[in-house]
Amino acid sequence: MTRRRWIADEVSGNQAALVGSHAAHLAVVLRARVGQRFDVAAGGAVRSGQITSVSPERVEFELGEEIPAAGTVNLTLLLAIFKFDRMEWAVEKCAELGVGRIVPVIARRTDVHLQRAADKRVERWRRLGQQASEQSRRTVPVVVNEPVKLKDAVLLNAPTRIVLAESEHQHLLKDALQPHSAEDELALAVGPEGGWTGDELPMFAQAGWTSASLGSTILRAETAAIAATAIAMSELS
Ligand code: SAH
Repeated sequence: MTRRRWIADEVSGNQAALVGSHAAHLAVVLRARVGQRFDVAAGGAVRSGQITSVSPERVEFELGEEIPAAGTVNLTLLLAIFKFDRMEWAVEKCAELGVGRIVPVIARRTDVHLQRAADKRVERWRRLGQQASEQSRRTVPVVVNEPVKLKDAVLLNAPTRIVLAESEHQHLLKDALQPHSAEDELALAVGPEGGWTGDELPMFAQAGWTSASLGSTILRAETAAIAATAIAMSELS
């Protein structure tokens, strides 16, 4: 079992600290002691951390050598907002799979009450993403952006941009990924429960996005998000 990894709440030089619920979990639940070692993700790298002080409010580490992190794929997932319980599940699973950034998108068929509530929900999505990143021992936690409208989301610039379209039957995602070089940013877009509208796909095309299929069945949005991420990760790792 790989050592538990913590994402530092505070970092300065070779000192790092966990505060609040992080500190309480390590100090009280896991009964951490001075001298114990844990992997600490700090400032985008993972380093070996030795506990120098422990209290339920604050745990401090002395940071040592950097620990090589597994190669991460630079993946941005545009996720059209859909029913929150399923959306939360997709955020958590895509964080576990290593998505770098999730951009919640307000698409034409995003329910209007979901649109209104989205700004308040982002904090919860961020917390779920942080917890899933920690549980899966990621070096850098997933970033969840503020929701954007589709017309702005399609303008996102990345070397490879692929919109998953249920209406696409020729071009499979794994083929659309072939030209992509793994170190470049890859953007994938997944539509809402009602799917993309007839004028949304041309918006992607005009902005230079490629359409791709996940196969002949129609997947739920959360299934499509997870399947697309898993395919991209396996093709590019
Ligand atoms: N409700 C619509 C489908 C929407 S599925 C219908 O029944 O036709 C939600 C999103 O998941 C789609 O917009 C698309 O982005 C993605 N998706 C689902 N199945 C897919 C497939 N076979 N290929 C590519 N994308 C798919």
